[in-house]
Amino acid sequence: MTGSARREELAAGLARVRERVAAAARSAGRDPGEVTLCVVTKTWPLSDVVALRALGVVDLGENRVAEAADKAAGLASLPVPAGVPAPRWHQLGTVQTNKAAATVAWADVVQSVDRPRVVTALARAAERAGRGVRPVEVLLQVSLDGDPARGGADPADVPALADLVAAAPALRLGGVMAVAPLGAEPAAAFARLHVVAEALRAQHPAARTVSAGMSGDLEAAVEAGSTCVRVGAAVLGSRVSAPRPPGSR
Ligand SMILES: *Cc1c(COP(=O)(O)O)cnc(C)c1O
Repeated sequence: MTGSARREELAAGLARVRERVAAAARSAGRDPGEVTLCVVTKTWPLSDVVALRALGVVDLGENRVAEAADKAAGLASLPVPAGVPAPRWHQLGTVQTNKAAATVAWADVVQSVDRPRVVTALARAAERAGRGVRPVEVLLQVSLDGDPARGGADPADVPALADLVAAAPALRLGGVMAVAPLGAEPAAAFARLHVVAEALRAQHPAARTVSAGMSGDLEAAVEAGSTCVRVGAAVLGSRVSAPRPPGSR
């Protein structure tokens, strides 16, 4: 596919997703401007990130540290498109404690924090990296299916984790994140997340982000109060059936 055909494809995907988000917000009586679109660029090449930036995308999601660091550095070496704010990179994948320093080197937001050891490792790494002036935003990933293998903290553990993040000078507690359970009704799960998010906000009023909703379930998430949808396939295409062109990264 030529670069311009790909750009058109991305523009069309982005327009469709923005319209889906706006329609879901309107039908829930919400302002579409309350919902941030984080475009998940994992597995896709830097050229796609560059095209998305030119289309006004600010928030970019990744899940592998080395791949994300490469793309963030590649993007940083190029001029910022006129009228588009600086990019915000989100880590969506599980954070290994031995990769905390490598993560804070590129991530503005870490959405997948679910254990005290990860908070401690990120806090130390962020402090060493001098991030006290521009703290790393942390979202607490909440398990909605009680299956620890899929990641996420038990809702009962969220208050203590939140206090741990709030006490770290180089971290900023942003809110919560969740992935809907496989094979279940997403609306019920997102309603449970909303309860956790409200309790967190009562404890930490600035922690207002609720990151929920992906390509397949963003309407249910927005209707349940999501303020950040994380969308990959519906913008960029299927990660499985669209192999990367040779030589790209
Ligand atoms: C990959 C990923 C997404 C995007 O999923 P799509 O189905 O491609 O929209 C969202 N959230 C997380 C945590 C992911 O890992």
